[in-house]
Amino acid sequence: MSKPLRIGVLGGGQLGRMMALAGYPLNLAFSFYESSSNCPSAALGEIHGDAENSTATLDAFIESADVFTYEFENIPAAWVERIAAKKPVYPGVKSLSVSQNRLNEKQLFASLKIPSARFAEINSEADLKSAVATLGLPLVIKTVTMGYDGKGQFLLKEDSQIAEAWAQLGQQTPLIAEEFVHFKRELSIIAVRDREGHTLCYPLTENVHHRGILSHSVSPAPHVDTDTQLAAERHIAAILRELDHVGVMTLELFDTRHGLVANETAPRVHNSGHWTIEGAHCSQFENHVRAVAGLPIGSTVCEKPVAMINIIGQHPATVDVLRQTDAHLHLYGKSEREGRKLGHITVTANNHHELETRLRKLAEILPNPMALPVGK
Ligand code: AMP
Repeated sequence: MSKPLRIGVLGGGQLGRMMALAGYPLNLAFSFYESSSNCPSAALGEIHGDAENSTATLDAFIESADVFTYEFENIPAAWVERIAAKKPVYPGVKSLSVSQNRLNEKQLFASLKIPSARFAEINSEADLKSAVATLGLPLVIKTVTMGYDGKGQFLLKEDSQIAEAWAQLGQQTPLIAEEFVHFKRELSIIAVRDREGHTLCYPLTENVHHRGILSHSVSPAPHVDTDTQLAAERHIAAILRELDHVGVMTLELFDTRHGLVANETAPRVHNSGHWTIEGAHCSQFENHVRAVAGLPIGSTVCEKPVAMINIIGQHPATVDVLRQTDAHLHLYGKSEREGRKLGHITVTANNHHELETRLRKLAEILPNPMALPVGK
């Protein structure tokens, strides 16, 4: 048997686990840079890393693999630069530096004429006051770096909350103040770009959040006209080209009365694309590892409506899930903890009506059904 190409993944969570599960049929092997030895990826490859994330363990990780990627964008750019000096890393440092920093991201949207919320950089309480004067209220105040799942955010509704917002986030400058977008719903588009620049997009997906965490996704998002799908594809293709991105990228969008408004990017496989494992010809995970490994990318077509439900905090009984028609269970091997993503369920159906019925049945057996429509 030929020696497999080994992909080194920065991070060893469920995204790395699902990348490896998609890569093994292609005779790809995996190493993970992760400090916890019982992480979700542990059973699927070598684990490098220690609690201190020392240079020695990073170098051993770099030695262990041929080509590199990451499953989380909030990692030190210096790690990626250290790898890039020795071996190929996809997506590159440019993609990382944009999605790690909300100001860079907003500037990129503006330069590519992609609609997004008006914003101001905030470095003082006085900046916050002038942002209220120029952008109006409400405003969403966010940390520029390290934010995810709504962490590090303050919804500023009234002038009287300025001091409170500053007390909460002022230690984490720079901040960004964004105009509040009155959206109808949240959507995302996932695309993959190979090393030659070929790009394919999955259909727009509708995402429902509960307390800042994704509850469930439906794809293709219902009631999306062709113009909207094409606009989303144009936006993400422009970003991918500009960054010379290789691999999967996700663009989160708000669906508004005036069309799509970009929120943020993730330079990686994304929770709102987990449905692609059973719901698309080639999953986001397989397409990502194909692109990283320099292989041709596969079809992103989705033949049937599909939904993905996150399992948060508590596990359902496996047998209850598997008894449901066309439901697929994915467990990440994590212990239960409030708010923790433990796994997901994908369910397909012949039409959106049948899909909603199946979602409701699944909601009944989940111990913690989040924002799912329960029992109606
Ligand atoms: P983010 O970390 O930017 O994805 O924000 C987390 C969530 O906060 C989003 O999924 C939206 O529900 C909400 N949100 C973020 N930015 C805005 C905004 N400018 N206007 C309205 N809602 C927002």
